[in-house]
Amino acid sequence: MPLHYFDNNATTQPAPEVVEAMQPSYATRWGNPSSLHQFGREVATDLDAARQAVATLIGAPRASSVIFTSSGTEADNLALFGLCAAQPTKRHLVTSTVEHAAVRNYCALLEEQGYTITRLPVAADGTLDPQQVADVCTPETACVSLMWANNETGVLFPIEQIAAICEERGVPFHCDAVQAIGKVSIDLCRHPIAALSLSGHKFHAPKGVGALYLRPGTPFRPMFRGGGQEQGRRAGTENVAQIVGLGVAATLARTHLSTVDTAVRALRDRMEHALLTRIPDMAINGHRTLRVANTTSVRMEGVDGEGMILALSEGGIAASTGSACAAGSIEPSHVLRAMGFSNAEIRGTLRLSISRYTTNSDIDALLEQLPAIVATRRRLAPPRRS
Ligand code: PLP
Repeated sequence: MPLHYFDNNATTQPAPEVVEAMQPSYATRWGNPSSLHQFGREVATDLDAARQAVATLIGAPRASSVIFTSSGTEADNLALFGLCAAQPTKRHLVTSTVEHAAVRNYCALLEEQGYTITRLPVAADGTLDPQQVADVCTPETACVSLMWANNETGVLFPIEQIAAICEERGVPFHCDAVQAIGKVSIDLCRHPIAALSLSGHKFHAPKGVGALYLRPGTPFRPMFRGGGQEQGRRAGTENVAQIVGLGVAATLARTHLSTVDTAVRALRDRMEHALLTRIPDMAINGHRTLRVANTTSVRMEGVDGEGMILALSEGGIAASTGSACAAGSIEPSHVLRAMGFSNAEIRGTLRLSISRYTTNSDIDALLEQLPAIVATRRRLAPPRRS
């Protein structure tokens, strides 16, 4: 059965060019990039090339501002740890109610350690008023940490305005850009962002590799103690093969930015329009235009998301109810809750996220199956109230 993949915000297909580029790191170029001999130094040049590719993708003026990590989660944790540890007298953080668990749970840990955390609310459409950031920053604020694009709804925060406000207040701004990379144009030459996290597997690199950009001069202390890798900012011998893959994926992401903005957006809009026409009592979660081009979060009355995922899966369609990291948990999505939806609306939500590999026939398969599944489930199970 062919796979129709609508879960690209959970993970993406590694690009064939990425997989191919990684092979020499296992077969022939497997030296330690920190070694002084020629064999190791050649591998160090592979790291340099990947670092430059990531820097170019995000418009970072210097490649040395990019630190490789094991994931987006590590990049987020490292940013928050590093910023707080380097400013021990500042015990206040600003974040939002809709962040990914990587930021959310690290903020909860800081709270246990005595930090005051301000969690900014979002509007019903998932957007955030940047004025709120200006209103809550104080001289005690160690960092503002806000995401660029939401993983569940795709809604974009006004990052340029937030960065300018933080700059004006002298507060370092950390941005979780994991879901924005490859979907929006990022130019760190223009935006005063102190720290920015990204994750390879969200843009066609393999899993288990990410990066943290740190603007020169940003207060930072490393989390790991060990060798002096990554200029002393992240100890541990680098995962060279994955990093090479990340570099190639970064170059491809840059090339395909306009494809995502046009072709992927057109596919998503076709899918959305057809679903809204064919499924009664369905609505889009989140702002209609302030959204990344690949994501649709839809709520349908009188159905449960998990049941729909299983039924779609039987027909070769992979989708998601909310954040994959929260899958298996019976807690309703904190993002949709923060937007003010009821438990029943959250239960009836489906997230469909596509990529540049999605085709019209994938969309056709979804349009053929989903309306029928929803109709059957509504007939068989009357809506639960809560
Ligand atoms: N931040 C956001 C917004 C995400 O969507 C994710 C993953 O879903 C992460 C951070 C964590 O990235 P990783 O899976 O590489 O740990």
